[in-house]
Amino acid sequence: MLRVGSLNDDKARAILERGRSELPRLEAAAKNGTLKSKDFDAEIYGCRTVKDALWKTQSARCCFCERDYESSHSTVEHFRPKTSARRSADQIDPGYWWLAYDPDNLLFACVVCNNLKRDWFPLAPRSPVLSPDRKKGSRRERPMLLDPRRDDPAAHLTYVWWDRLQSYAIAALSDRGLKTIEILGLDREALVWLRRRYYHYYLAPIIASVEEASKQRPLLPSPVRELAGPDATLGFFTRCVLLHRGFLPHAVAKAARA
Ligand SMILES: [Zn+2]
Repeated sequence: MLRVGSLNDDKARAILERGRSELPRLEAAAKNGTLKSKDFDAEIYGCRTVKDALWKTQSARCCFCERDYESSHSTVEHFRPKTSARRSADQIDPGYWWLAYDPDNLLFACVVCNNLKRDWFPLAPRSPVLSPDRKKGSRRERPMLLDPRRDDPAAHLTYVWWDRLQSYAIAALSDRGLKTIEILGLDREALVWLRRRYYHYYLAPIIASVEEASKQRPLLPSPVRELAGPDATLGFFTRCVLLHRGFLPHAVAKAARA
């Protein structure tokens, strides 16, 4: 999973600002219980300018699975779902309609992750539920899904060596990490094999050459540092592998901020 920064694109923010005028209509439909996904204007939150701006902010990668994708083949993801919020298999609450055009709620995600997430948005037990008039209190709501804008994936997710696969597999460090893996299918077969190929054919040979050159492993030399950088495809995966291979945690953390 990525850590995603704010959307710093004036054109995209100006387009999203237009969504404000939609909110009274959405509020009325929500109060009547008639709100449908077609009530939201995808020409605003899903337009090319907004999608491309999110895509660039995330260096062309899906915020959840870290793969890189073309902008035109992917989707704008609402972290808090706009129409309905599925808390469990048998509980669906109204969605967060007032965040449909909020740049802090929008992310760039691949079609597969987007389809798996759908309207899932479980909360921690006894968590308050965010409501439109409590927008400023969003930190009080405790989502189970990790938020790429607020959460550090390293606190909840890692990769561990898996003998059976002869590669690294995603693992949870917290209940939220586990729920995120489950809902987004971050252990799905296609990703397992992608990471395996990346590790064996690309990462492992580079790491091996670096380890040979520096038995001390004090800092990350440039080729490895770039693969672990904030804009790198599978950068978080790479950082977890480097930690496991004995590179100094502060050097790996520094690469993530480079
Ligand atoms: Zn994805």
